Amino acid sequence: MATYLHFAPALALAVAIGPQRIGWRLTLAGAVCAVLPDADFLLYVLHIDAYSGTYGHRGFTHSIGFALLVGALGALLAGRHPVRSRWLTATFLALCTFSHPLLDGLIDRGICNAWFWPLDGARHCLPWRPVPLQGVPLFGPDRLRQELLWIGLPLALLALAGAGTRRWCATRPSRGQASAMVVPTQRTDSPRALRQHRRQAVRAMAGALLARRARARACSHCFSKCE
Ligand SMILES: [Zn+2]
Repeated sequence: MATYLHFAPALALAVAIGPQRIGWRLTLAGAVCAVLPDADFLLYVLHIDAYSGTYGHRGFTHSIGFALLVGALGALLAGRHPVRSRWLTATFLALCTFSHPLLDGLIDRGICNAWFWPLDGARHCLPWRPVPLQGVPLFGPDRLRQELLWIGLPLALLALAGAGTRRWCATRPSRGQASAMVVPTQRTDSPRALRQHRRQAVRAMAGALLARRARARACSHCFSKCE
């Protein structure tokens, strides 16, 4: 397990998606979800399963299925939100929960996760496990340094990329808005000029509507609401 930074993905995702949409309560819930899978330690203490079984440590609680379950239950419990959809709540909590087995899986230790529970209870290791556990004490500055390098730094980059994309989506002027701001300057005395100005106004409105739709589609990728 990661000793210090299991909660960090919740913070990084909240910054990337947008603190206004996620809020501090959901961020806190995400941090709890990010450490929740290790509650399976109780199953070991109660002698329900050992380390290698489906219901032992890093068993079913360290799976994609468990993360989806936690996300769905969390969204149901959270109820309606004025800004955030239930899908976003569920996705955020599921990602936070799934970050736990993902970080565990990156550690170079023999225990593997039951990723595909309930379809498959067997343990599988990731092919790439760069975070060193062997030879590094479980607590202390060496451990913290390794986690900051392999977990903290990528998460900080993710948060910065998400925040940057949101800002870009929110401030980028669209062609439709620019054309909508064009004000006819010619006199409209003649019927012909009047018709021309009407056509220009209709074209500008249509352009603004199309651009607004395109921006909404583009911004849905960065989970940002663009006005
Ligand atoms: Zn774990």
